[in-house]
Amino acid sequence: MRCKYCNERCATDFCGHECREKYDSFLTFSKKYLNLFLLGMFGPIVLLILPFIFDGHLLFMAVACFVWAVTLIVFPFATPQTTESSGVKRSIALLRWTGIVFIIMGLFMLFLNAL
Ligand SMILES: [Zn+2]
Repeated sequence: MRCKYCNERCATDFCGHECREKYDSFLTFSKKYLNLFLLGMFGPIVLLILPFIFDGHLLFMAVACFVWAVTLIVFPFATPQTTESSGVKRSIALLRWTGIVFIIMGLFMLFLNAL
């Protein structure tokens, strides 16, 4: 068995009191902000449709990337499958890194837009 939070091997669901608390508070946090997370993930899709109406599509894509980045860094809510297989702690880190990749992509698009 592995700890549901840190994914270390242990005899029960959690390796200690601390992991259990962190897991519970993350669960409460993710339930509270799930709608905001979904808005942040699906909202930018509208920004990707706008370029077909207006010019400057790179700018819209850059903004979409930044919204995704902020959403993933502030609300790192992975799918239940991911948290199940690698633990909450690691899936949070994974999503935050994905957010950083989106920032880099957004900056790259701003750079291309400025050319
Ligand atoms: Zn643990």
